[in-house]
Amino acid sequence: MSDTIERIKCLIIGSGPAGYTAAIYAARADLKPVIYTGMQMGGQLTTTTEVDNFPGYPEGSDGTAMMEDFKKQAERFGTEVRFGVVTAVNLSDKVGGIHKVTVDASKEIEAETIIISTGATAKYLGLESEQRLIGGGVSACATCDGFFYKGQDVVVIGAGDTAAEEATYLSNICKKVTILVRKDYMRASKAMQHRVQKTENIEVMYNTELDEVLGDKVVEGVRVINNQTQEKQVIDVTGLFIAIGHKPNTEIFQDVLDMDEVGYLITQEKTTKTNLPGVFAAGDVQDKEYRQAVTAAGTGCMAALDAERYLGALE
Ligand code: NDP
Repeated sequence: MSDTIERIKCLIIGSGPAGYTAAIYAARADLKPVIYTGMQMGGQLTTTTEVDNFPGYPEGSDGTAMMEDFKKQAERFGTEVRFGVVTAVNLSDKVGGIHKVTVDASKEIEAETIIISTGATAKYLGLESEQRLIGGGVSACATCDGFFYKGQDVVVIGAGDTAAEEATYLSNICKKVTILVRKDYMRASKAMQHRVQKTENIEVMYNTELDEVLGDKVVEGVRVINNQTQEKQVIDVTGLFIAIGHKPNTEIFQDVLDMDEVGYLITQEKTTKTNLPGVFAAGDVQDKEYRQAVTAAGTGCMAALDAERYLGALE
């Protein structure tokens, strides 16, 4: 048995729309890409319901089914898809240098180029009661957990498209959905807000924040506070869905790659190049502005082209 460390030409970390699109292009360019999927194979779209805004799907598509299509297309051109999590990196700062990567804290591999498409993860508020009751009624994914609250009353926190979408989804399952919005307006798109407004069993409470999640082992209610009047009130609910945005998955690149104050990777203008040669970033991990599946796919394509050109220039 050989103890040689595996050398990969194009390693892709993360399996959302950015990662798979990078794989399709890299495979067709004969870069023999290997994808490590991360824990959430298929990425954030697998936790969403209907995806209606991805071109080429006139009737919309289920998020998980769409990601399965992405995967099949990447595999059709020879991408190797592996289930595993990259847990550490030792990246070269030299042009043509070899990057070392650890998978699942045990397997060492080497890569000539790396495309980082690790995406972003849902944020929580950080209250002790919220953290304690995750899995006991607190969730950040309505499509994953909404089913458990059939016919019950739930609260959604947030005011963006995710909150509006989650609330609309839950309104079809639950008896009543209350959205807590900390400002006096929602930032969700007009179309999403319209859907919320015309749904009878959704109530929006403005200027309202979560003060405490009530319950010992499971959620029995929430205490909320009006941030204008400081008035508190208890709402009896069994489920609490947090929909307040995401944070980029870049912990393993801290102090290695340039990132902004939130942790989004910084890429050079109009490219996917990071500050290290041969390391590229695509998708939500480097985009706090657009964060759409289609824009992620677009930057995935760019990253594969950037990797191909980088390797070509070394020859
Ligand atoms: P956003 O960053 O757009 O919104 C987060 C929301 O959470 C904001 O309204 C913010 O309030 C609120 N919030 C943040 N922190 C707190 C807190 N501590 N307490 C209470 N509220 C808080 O994130 P989204 O996940 O909604 O959307 C991310 C991106 O994905 C957007 O570009 C969106 O358009 C897109 N998206 C598109 C969808 C689609 O097209 N189908 C579906 C879902 C998302 P405040 O406004 O006060 O800052």
